[in-house]
Amino acid sequence: MQFRSDMYVDLMKSDATDFDVTAAARVSTIGADGLDLNLPVEPLINYLMRDRHGSPFEHTRFTFYIEAPIFVAREFFRHRAGWSYNEESGRYKELQPVFYMPHSERPLVQVGKPGAYEYQTGTYRQYMRVNESLKTAYGEAYEHYRAMLAADIAREVARMVLPVGIYTSFYATCNARSLMHFLSLRTKRDNAKVPSFPQLEIQMVADQMEAAFEAQMPFTAAAFDTHGRVAP
Ligand SMILES: Cc1cc2nc3c(=O)[nH]c(=O)nc-3n(C[C@H](O)[C@H](O)[C@H](O)COP(=O)(O)OP(=O)(O)OC[C@H]3O[C@@H](n4cnc5c(N)ncnc54)[C@H](O)[C@@H]3O)c2cc1C
Repeated sequence: MQFRSDMYVDLMKSDATDFDVTAAARVSTIGADGLDLNLPVEPLINYLMRDRHGSPFEHTRFTFYIEAPIFVAREFFRHRAGWSYNEESGRYKELQPVFYMPHSERPLVQVGKPGAYEYQTGTYRQYMRVNESLKTAYGEAYEHYRAMLAADIAREVARMVLPVGIYTSFYATCNARSLMHFLSLRTKRDNAKVPSFPQLEIQMVADQMEAAFEAQMPFTAAAFDTHGRVAP
């Protein structure tokens, strides 16, 4: 059995620059002349973001490879508009015993009300409770999984016993507009016009995706942040 506390995010490929956005926007005013590389990019991106002209941001493409527990993937796949997915199959391959174990500093205690919970550090005893319960349950579940496979039960049936803490892997492809919508909901920032309260583990994925976004499209990422982190 392997226990992991991380989320793995790799930008496999991208076709996404700030210039792609301005070139698409300028088709409405100067047509193909908008492909002139000498035209300014930053002011137009700021204007598009501020006034929520969103469609020019769709002419871009990011493909991420992600390894995360199933409970994170399940939250992720709720994002439908402008996203394409492919996930590792529990029918076609034997799932490996790789399970999520929260880091010792992960907040454990929930206070507040639905929609605005806060999470506080637990005691050492609470951390040990989580650690022991997860290890025992993961271990037993995986043992039953293996026992069913050994008894010639189909993988698609045997997997029913596995918990949502087991890691999965998937490809997720989006454009800058759908990515910003995802980031607005799955990151937690003080400057967000509309605050969100995402689970820590999906934030760990989203933060890495935002870093990749900033590297590919610095003016767009900066304008998104400056204008309150609302997708245009
Ligand atoms: C903090 C948090 C808590 C959550 N808690 C729960 C929960 O308890 N239970 C639960 O089920 N989900 C929960 N969710 C998931 C949430 O309801 C959304 O499904 C998820 O955030 C994806 O958002 P979205 O639908 O805006 O994104 P997308 O599916 O990517 O859609 C993007 C936008 O496209 C438009 N759109 C897409 N599909 C339609 C449609 N069919 N009709 C009209 N407009 C459409 C909307 O404007 C939408 O905002 C939670 C999400 C967050 C961030």
